[in-house]
Amino acid sequence: MSVFPVARISKWGYHKGNGTRWFGAPRDDGRIHAGCDLLARPGTKVLAIDHGTVQYRADFYLGTDQLVVKHGNFIVRYGEVAKDKKVKGIKNGSVVKPGDVIAYVGRLKMLHFEMYQGTETGYLTRRKNKDYKFVDPKNYQRRADLIDPTPYLDAWKAWSQFSDWIDDVMDDYF
Ligand SMILES: [Zn+2]
Repeated sequence: MSVFPVARISKWGYHKGNGTRWFGAPRDDGRIHAGCDLLARPGTKVLAIDHGTVQYRADFYLGTDQLVVKHGNFIVRYGEVAKDKKVKGIKNGSVVKPGDVIAYVGRLKMLHFEMYQGTETGYLTRRKNKDYKFVDPKNYQRRADLIDPTPYLDAWKAWSQFSDWIDDVMDDYF
């Protein structure tokens, strides 16, 4: 059974209307937010949502990394994870299972979570390549098989009732 991808649930929501954290939120530069931002303290465990295989780890955004994992029916980009704190043994080709710690929340104090159906191939993000098959509208700047992770996150949140999970109160951070 799938699990929520951060080990502590924040009271700061990721649904439409919650700041700029929701899927589809407009950005000042005209881009559209291609994932959900799950706020958490730096160092919070990032968990594999399901069984899967790590495809790659790479630079992502403002001093953070991304970990891209192929799960059964999806590809997930775990974005804005810590660059300086890595999980031993997690590398390209690593096999993961639901709830495995695969990374830590990075300096931007959130997990940026993107999902793809896996029906396309090639890079997940392309900004200026005219041969690239973009999702519609194009200013998501993402591959054509991008999907909204919100309903999946909701389901996993409901199922992930581990006794040691708490609402992470983050007023001191935000
Ligand atoms: Zn984001």
